[in-house]
Amino acid sequence: MSRLYNFSAGPAMLPEPVLQQAQGELLDWNNTGMSVMEMSHRGKEFTSIAQQAEANLRALMAIPDNYKVLFLQGGATAQFTAIPMNLLRGKTTADYVNTGQWSIKAIEEASRYCDVNIVASSEQSHFTTVPDFDNWTLNPDAAYVHYTANETIGGVEFDYIPDTGDVPLVVDLSSTILSRPIDVSRFALIYAGAQKNIGPAGLTLVIVRDDLLGDALAITPICYDYKIQADNDSMYNTPPTYGWYLAGLVFQWLQNLGGLTAMADINQRKAQKLYDAIDHSDFYQNPVEKRYRSWMNIPFTLNDESLDAAFLAGADTAKLVALKGHRTVGGMRASIYNAMPEQGVDALIHYMQEFAQQHK
Ligand SMILES: *Cc1c(COP(=O)(O)O)cnc(C)c1O
Repeated sequence: MSRLYNFSAGPAMLPEPVLQQAQGELLDWNNTGMSVMEMSHRGKEFTSIAQQAEANLRALMAIPDNYKVLFLQGGATAQFTAIPMNLLRGKTTADYVNTGQWSIKAIEEASRYCDVNIVASSEQSHFTTVPDFDNWTLNPDAAYVHYTANETIGGVEFDYIPDTGDVPLVVDLSSTILSRPIDVSRFALIYAGAQKNIGPAGLTLVIVRDDLLGDALAITPICYDYKIQADNDSMYNTPPTYGWYLAGLVFQWLQNLGGLTAMADINQRKAQKLYDAIDHSDFYQNPVEKRYRSWMNIPFTLNDESLDAAFLAGADTAKLVALKGHRTVGGMRASIYNAMPEQGVDALIHYMQEFAQQHK
């Protein structure tokens, strides 16, 4: 067996101990004679797996008791729809911040259900920064304020949580959840697709304050209705059982590592050394304002883009894969989520330095 260092933006690497445990339990979970994939979601075995996973997540993120945790399907993209449907609650307008391509997708979808007010945008800088909070034009009558804490494509990450007062704050944490501690009580709703930092694709987490449940738009599909899902412990219909189980193993892995503070130290170190390698070379560049550089997604370009193909081919040979940048951005992107070992980042830096030497 030979595992690669996979820098994909998602689906992304999973921790090897998690995959090994899943492999060991694949045919027979805990002497039940069944794979988790084959279990009834309503049986006592899966119920225990589901409850344990939620308890572990609550402990990891210190989720207050007045928040529900939903284990849903449809990816973050389904939440672009579900959020206006559930949170408008009689209002007709919502505030959105535009910091890049995922913000834009969320805005486009919300615009189908309400008036979207763009409170701030970093478009002028080609999405290489985060708008200064002092200049946001918040609407006190908005149903909620939505922002994308980490723009996976641009590699731009907020280093602050906006204070929106009484207006509920909604955040897309898809590509940064669990990368560091975060104060859940500052948010009305947090959502994240699993395939970056939680588990396999197909599972979507929603953490929602319980006073916001109910009064979804009448047209809301029943499986997108947060209250219905909350009242049924995310089992109104069949949940993504295997993804839920694997997420539980990832939560345990994080706990064994020392929790999110320990994870944050590792992530910061990994990111810092890669940015240092980029900044200290005259061969590579990252365009993002330093303060807002993502710990998770690090885009970079070669000064001579005619070398891109050779860079990628050599990287593949060195078992460093999926470094090609997003099709709309070009260049390279190294996604270094929680499960990317520090040795993987070291190997990438070593390869980048060697490549630069050879092509001076
Ligand atoms: C990947 C991603 C999405 C989309 O996730 P899907 O699961 O494909 O719907 C949305 N927002 C952000 C920030 C992402 O990184």
